Amino acid sequence: MEGLYFKYSDLQKALYGQKVYKLPVNYAVSCPNRDGTKGYGGCIFCSEKGSSHEAHENTVEISSQIIKNKEYIGPRYGAKLFDVYFQSYTNTYMPLDIFKGMINTAVNATDGIVGLSISTRPDCIDERYLDFLKEIKEKYSVGITIELGLQSVNERTLEKINRGHTLSDYVKSVILIKSYGFNVCTHMISTLPWDTENDLIDGAKMISALCGYGDSVKIHTLYIEDGTVIGEMYKNGEFEMPDMEEYFIRTSSFLANLKPDIAISRLTGRVSSETALFENWGRSHWVVEDGLREYMTQNGIIQGINYSDGNTGGMGRFRA
Ligand code: SF4
Repeated sequence: MEGLYFKYSDLQKALYGQKVYKLPVNYAVSCPNRDGTKGYGGCIFCSEKGSSHEAHENTVEISSQIIKNKEYIGPRYGAKLFDVYFQSYTNTYMPLDIFKGMINTAVNATDGIVGLSISTRPDCIDERYLDFLKEIKEKYSVGITIELGLQSVNERTLEKINRGHTLSDYVKSVILIKSYGFNVCTHMISTLPWDTENDLIDGAKMISALCGYGDSVKIHTLYIEDGTVIGEMYKNGEFEMPDMEEYFIRTSSFLANLKPDIAISRLTGRVSSETALFENWGRSHWVVEDGLREYMTQNGIIQGINYSDGNTGGMGRFRA
């Protein structure tokens, strides 16, 4: 690891010799936390778009979305390798045959696809989907990453934000996914008002115990959109957002306790300015991230500096 933390782009360069660009796909699925299977109304921060604002409308056919995004990203960044990213809602929450069709369409949409990233909930993935993805991995030589929303390791916070799953659901799903040799990208939120710095430290330790090289973390700042449950709570003054200094403290403590070979894919969250009630303290995400890097530098913090695998080597170590 060079620098303050292990960047996801450096992981990709190590694996593929160059940066791999995400092609977001918005598929018309729902979420068990919205339709009553797990809960109603969804997570309190989730908008009608299902936590995605960068993709095409889901009425556009999958292969067209992939090709259009590639035509935009390819020339702009000189991109040659791509990862199709099923971003919105819960992309394993559909009958298996429809899931198979979705994945087959994606992997055959264009050349240069070296990976598939599939966002889902920790309580919404099982062997049937993973068995099929294993076939796809072997047939097309693509990397498989399952993106799991965890957001917080504090069970009270998970209830408060209406996640509808538990921490143990996350642990079970990571163990299952890793048994297939797939990668896991865990999504966390650094600035939930109901969490503390210690919750972030616990989160880093939990992820470090389960994940390793090839795996990654997106640690988002909480943004608040109009039209969401948390948006109403915010307008009613039911909580205060942590300030930017607290973001620096929490995120740097998270990184300090995270295993150094887990890659960092995001340090802030972003949302459309048209719907944002609160986003990154009114500053650009890169200004906030620069501030974090400066804070870490000033305080001598790098990823993994406080990480320990906790292994004492057994009692033998203490024998005379
Ligand atoms: S699990 Fe994801 S898609 Fe479902 S309500 Fe929560 S944030 Fe939205």
